[in-house]
Amino acid sequence: MSLSKEHILSLLSEIPDPEIPVITILELGVIRDILVIDDTNIELKITPTYSGCPAMKQIEDDVRKKLTEHGFTSITINTIFSPPWTTDWITPQAKEKLRQYGIAPPETTTEDKSWLTGKTKAIACPRCKSLNTKLISQFGSTACKALYQCNDCLEPFDYFKCI
Ligand SMILES: [Zn+2]
Repeated sequence: MSLSKEHILSLLSEIPDPEIPVITILELGVIRDILVIDDTNIELKITPTYSGCPAMKQIEDDVRKKLTEHGFTSITINTIFSPPWTTDWITPQAKEKLRQYGIAPPETTTEDKSWLTGKTKAIACPRCKSLNTKLISQFGSTACKALYQCNDCLEPFDYFKCI
C-alpha cells in the first residue's frame, strides 16, 4: 500500500521550520512537488528560500527523517531554483502566526518595488501594530530578517524581508 500524496502532505505539515518553529515547512512554501513512485520510493521538489540559507539543509534532513520513519527507503530531493522562492508563497495563516510570534511578516508582495526607489516602507510593530518603527540593522537573528525597533512600545523585532 502506497501512501497518498495527501498523506505525505500531512506528514510534511508536522515538520516545523528550523528557524521559526511556529510555522511549518509547508506553510513556508518550499515544497513544490511530491511524486510517490511506489511504497518505498519518493521524489520531492524543494525550492530554497534564500540561497545559502543554512536552514535548507536542516529542512532536507528533517524531511528525510520523517519519510524514512514512514517506510520510504529511497528519497530523492531535487532542488529547484526556478521559479525562485518568494515571500508570496508563505500562506496568509503563516503570516498571521509570524506576527503572533513577534516577527513582522512580509508586508507586501514582491510586486512592490519601493525598495528600488530608495523609499523605505513603514513596517508595523508585531506587538502594538504601530507604524512608528525604525530599522536598526539589515540583518536580524538570521540573514533572512532585518532588525527593527518600535518607537512606541520600544520593542525590538525581526522583520521577515520580502524577496
Ligand atoms: Zn510596538
